[in-house]
Amino acid sequence: MEVLSPYKEAADVIFEAGGEPLKLCYQCGLCTSICPWNLVRNFLVRRIMHEAQLGATDFGSEDVWTCVTCRACVQHCPRGVEIIDVMRAVRRAVASLGIGIVPDALRISAKNIAGVGNPLGEAPEKRNDWAKDLQVKDFASGTELLYFPCCIPSYDPDAKMVARSTVAIFNKLGIDYGIIGTEAKCCGEAIRKAGHEETFLSLAQNNIGLFNSSGVKTVIVSSPHCYHTFKDEYPELGGKFEVIHITQYLASLIDEGKLKLSKKIDKKVIYSDPCYLGRHHDIYDEPRKILQSIPGLELIEFPDARENGLCCGGGGGRIWMDTPKGERFSDIRVDQAVDKGAETIALACPYCLLNYRDSVLSMGKAETVQIRDITELVAEAMTEE
Ligand code: SF4
Ligand code: SF4
Repeated sequence: MEVLSPYKEAADVIFEAGGEPLKLCYQCGLCTSICPWNLVRNFLVRRIMHEAQLGATDFGSEDVWTCVTCRACVQHCPRGVEIIDVMRAVRRAVASLGIGIVPDALRISAKNIAGVGNPLGEAPEKRNDWAKDLQVKDFASGTELLYFPCCIPSYDPDAKMVARSTVAIFNKLGIDYGIIGTEAKCCGEAIRKAGHEETFLSLAQNNIGLFNSSGVKTVIVSSPHCYHTFKDEYPELGGKFEVIHITQYLASLIDEGKLKLSKKIDKKVIYSDPCYLGRHHDIYDEPRKILQSIPGLELIEFPDARENGLCCGGGGGRIWMDTPKGERFSDIRVDQAVDKGAETIALACPYCLLNYRDSVLSMGKAETVQIRDITELVAEAMTEE
């Protein structure tokens, strides 16, 4: 098929991102059958791969923005096609080459991130306001750990509880940690998946420069998205620090006998695996170990837990886009949790927190099932009776 510029350039961008494995796609269609979108509407992943092979992508289609980068298809593709990289490259072609249309909500978040360094459009100098009334040190060279909460717990009024619970745990245990200055910016994971490569590189360079010059050796993160990008993407850009997700850290403290949970939480709790902890990084056991260490807590599982867990719908920049009622994965999850008799849905990702919070509110189920981050449960279980 003859491909004309700028579509030729876009086709090259996509092919480079998909690389040799994209050539190997033999159109088996397994990706389409596995993709969770097909629970709620048609989304032909196989066709997107085929069009990418031919250089015939339909850049005007809403399918360009649909993938939540959950990785369910990648882990099953028999030919090793990095399907998420192809999706990202298609978006990159739209965002950087001006072909097709970027959804309004995504355009606003991208503008906020590029302008003030966070997707909410909040003032950079307010990034650390969540810690104002708490005993939290500024990170200085020689401090053992940097705690980096992510933009959502830094600014969102409900999600601040994630950061506040985390430092409450650290303070109680006498952990040597600090938080970095307000020059820090969004990690850039989601905006990169949404195709804004230049913005990502600028955010990464800012954060890497700040962390390296401050003497950061180890970062503890609340967000699996920060975890992913700090761990897998920053090193090739000069990042030189170890990255630990808070669930890994708390599980290790339990193993070492340093974190003891004594207050009972008599609840049936179901844990939702975030895609960027589970499928992207194989972290399934640590969150469960923490929950099982809380006295009185009964841990139950979704029918499709762990490797097969349903995404909340917030990855790949979808957290900033409108998803119509009837197509929200977190609504499906809330119904599943209620059917299983769960009283609490435990989470370990700020994007999951936003989506589940919106679901229980819009479904009128906020009284039936609570949405809580694992750190909130741990902080509560550390409290003396
Ligand atoms: S599962 Fe892999 S080989 Fe099969 S259609 Fe999808 S991308 Fe191609
Ligand atoms: S990463 Fe997830 S949402 Fe995206 S195409 Fe694959 S299965 Fe579908």
